[in-house]
Amino acid sequence: MLEKVLIANRGEIALRILRACRELGIKTVAVHSSADRDLKHVRLADESVCIGPPASKDSYLNVPAIISAAELTDAVGIHPGYGFLSENADFAERVEDSGFVFIGPTPDSIRTMGDKVAAIAAMHEAGVPCVPGSDGELGDDNDTNLKIARDIGYPIIIKAAGGGGGRGMRVVNSEATLINSIALTKQEAASNFGNDAVYMEKYLETPRHVEIQVLSDGQGNAIHLGERDCSMQRRHQKVVEEAPAPGITEKMRKKIGQRCVDACIKMGYRGAGTFEFLFQDDEFYFIEMNTRVQVEHPVTEMITGVDIIKEQLYIASGDKLRYRQSDIEIRGHAIECRINAEDAKTFVPSPGIIERYHPPGGPGIRIDTHIYGGYTVPPHYDSMIGKLIAYGNDRDNAIARMQGALSEISITGINTNIDLHRDILSDAAFKAGGTNIHYLEKKLGL
Ligand code: ADP
Repeated sequence: MLEKVLIANRGEIALRILRACRELGIKTVAVHSSADRDLKHVRLADESVCIGPPASKDSYLNVPAIISAAELTDAVGIHPGYGFLSENADFAERVEDSGFVFIGPTPDSIRTMGDKVAAIAAMHEAGVPCVPGSDGELGDDNDTNLKIARDIGYPIIIKAAGGGGGRGMRVVNSEATLINSIALTKQEAASNFGNDAVYMEKYLETPRHVEIQVLSDGQGNAIHLGERDCSMQRRHQKVVEEAPAPGITEKMRKKIGQRCVDACIKMGYRGAGTFEFLFQDDEFYFIEMNTRVQVEHPVTEMITGVDIIKEQLYIASGDKLRYRQSDIEIRGHAIECRINAEDAKTFVPSPGIIERYHPPGGPGIRIDTHIYGGYTVPPHYDSMIGKLIAYGNDRDNAIARMQGALSEISITGINTNIDLHRDILSDAAFKAGGTNIHYLEKKLGL
């Protein structure tokens, strides 16, 4: 097992990684910006190093400072968490070239999956179902592009190969605007992502977001941990997630899960990963693969009993996968609410001092958060301050427990979106299950 791990992240995920390391007897190094000295995991880590001023680009994205901190503290592995440098292939390469273990996939895998055209090609090859589309990057010939779109059928969506975070996409409803839209998306892609490659897909109008969690050891062994439904979104940001996804049968899970497992083995994928799909009319359509641990990983942990971060650490240590597919049994239901420091109605971020914090409790309640009474939420980073997770024997039980927890939790001093979660959890369509990715924005009147 790795002896010492540097946690190249902040907030709840840094604390989550620290807890997994502690269970495995791994020493921890926290790196933090000057605004983050009071983070809980910084206090709990065996060692800590300040790597720069508050701005992410000078600290959590500062590759030389992170590598120096690892050298200084004799860390063996570096865990990137999610966001920041977690899907930066050049960073993973720097980590490995400097003699450290990158707790994640190979730089090559990250690079391939970071290019959506390359990722889709890899999925086609591995037999993972994709959205009907252009089969690669669009060329310059207008007639060819018009024909591709006609064959797919409108509406279509033009997407940047290098896009991310819900940016670099344009929906086209009819032929009249196609050529212009391709040119515009190309221009934006060039200036935003430094890569003007774009491709075309069928635009699915009422899909759900359903994703498959995988673990793969890069030594020929891979498993899936079932699916999560993350359709409750605002501006492409997930707000509530759950596992399993309502209405997904064991047969469907097995089939799509096996495709993802096969793809992992074929690609020699190493680590935890997520295959994201749009799900419509009982069909899965691959949209992208995330080559890191995801925010919503706890719901999968709750229903499988597998600690995903610990498995990442085992895999990075060179161990063979400790589970076989037949060991994985899905039991009960879990829901996660992302708690953000923001106004529940206007969504304006609300940094500042948390005066009091009363966490909820009781059977099946888990909170992954770094906050405490007296903690100051800095204005420099993402507004998510924690995740409230409820587990139940079935979906109704998980909803009831989440509603109880949401009525108990109290955070004062800053605004939070807890009221929004109370609204969602008592929403009739949510309770019925299976709402699509547009549901929340419609409900909010956006
Ligand atoms: P990003 O990397 O920016 O998150 P994705 O490819 O995951 O890009 O797409 C982000 C979101 O855009 C999806 O969750 C979905 O809401 C929408 N989207 C992407 N492709 C399609 C499509 N073919 N049809 C309908 N919606 C799509």
